[in-house]
Amino acid sequence: MDGAGMGTLQDSRQSLELNGETVDFLLRRSRRRRTLALRVGETGEVVVNAPHFVALGDIHRFLHSHRLWLGRQRCAARARFFAWVEGAAMPWLGSTLTLSLLPGGGCSRVQAEEGRLLCAAPPDGVPAVITRWYQRQARELLTQRLGQHASRIGRPVPPLRLSDARTRWGSLSARGVVSLNWRLVKADWREIDYVICHELAHFRQRDHSPAFWREVATLFPAWETARRELRDNTWRYFQF
Ligand SMILES: [Zn+2]
Repeated sequence: MDGAGMGTLQDSRQSLELNGETVDFLLRRSRRRRTLALRVGETGEVVVNAPHFVALGDIHRFLHSHRLWLGRQRCAARARFFAWVEGAAMPWLGSTLTLSLLPGGGCSRVQAEEGRLLCAAPPDGVPAVITRWYQRQARELLTQRLGQHASRIGRPVPPLRLSDARTRWGSLSARGVVSLNWRLVKADWREIDYVICHELAHFRQRDHSPAFWREVATLFPAWETARRELRDNTWRYFQF
């Protein structure tokens, strides 16, 4: 063995199913290292540093036990890389609008038109202006949809609070206020309906017991597919 490779063995590219998606990672084995270490880089790349003697199955178990942390780190890395540039794909009701930046004059303005999201704002104001546009649309669309589902099951329409939570889609307060994340308007109607029906089901079952999921199924039979889709898309919807 030559000098450069003293403690280090060959790196290998690996992958593993975690959180319902394939996670690629770089496995670096070393003769000197005694413990496993996990790192998520700037752009979301995953690196595992491992002692040479640890079996691949143990490395998989190690990753599995850190899957929630890993998911959060990867989301955060991807979010840092959302670029507010001409042509960016803006998720909107399960499809995308193409961002079109217009020269910002005196007043900022956003408008959806023929598959494009037109935004006139000073360059550093674009994220805030567009976020406010999403929030206004969310208030209108989610209020309407919550009302429709509540009436459908003969329940008085609960008050809606628009939330900006970084990790949750919805919740129901003890006082019966439904909170929905404004980012839901990026999702497909199926996913939106699932979240709304999930919160409505909490009026009858506060926990996540089997009885609760039966309640969800009566309100929204396709809940399982919608829930899976929402989970798979969450990182995208939370980019901004
Ligand atoms: Zn719940």
